[in-house]
Amino acid sequence: MGNLLLLSCCAPCSAGVIKKLATESKNFTVLFFNPNIAPFEEYQKRLNANKKVCENFGINFIELPYDHETWLKEVAEGFENEPERGARCKRCFLYRLRQAAKYAKENGFDEFSSVLGISRYKDLESVNKAAEIAQKEFDITYDFTNWRKNSGEQEGLKTVKELNLYIQKYCGCEFSKNKN
Ligand code: SF4
Repeated sequence: MGNLLLLSCCAPCSAGVIKKLATESKNFTVLFFNPNIAPFEEYQKRLNANKKVCENFGINFIELPYDHETWLKEVAEGFENEPERGARCKRCFLYRLRQAAKYAKENGFDEFSSVLGISRYKDLESVNKAAEIAQKEFDITYDFTNWRKNSGEQEGLKTVKELNLYIQKYCGCEFSKNKN
């Protein structure tokens, strides 16, 4: 594995992978690009929790600008009533993975990956399909490791609880929040 950019959505989904890669002394950086999260206070809570995980393991953390209005226009408009795992989510994965691929390409990373599909509530196949598109568009390799293996999700939750960090109760956007 070369210099990897790991797109993260939140601390519980990423902490197990960050811990694993850090323990293996892998060369990687965590990218936080999640304009899907609403409201802003929720975004800040997840951002801070994810930052703390990286600080704890001594890993570089990059945050890209939060612009929920643009996300609503470019991803959710017309797809507001889609169920989770439906078309809106596929568009949401692609939107964030494209940005990760672009950032990785422009900043000298060898490859990129993400934890967007680590949760059992997520459709890993949709994430991988979006990653295929993004890697082709930006000409940079996506690492298709299935992070669910070796209890990736459970390890993440365990680590977040050990560090006493915030754990969210819904996926991210207002449409997923309103369903709870
Ligand atoms: S439910 Fe989650 S993955 Fe789906 S559109 Fe909302 S934030 Fe994105």
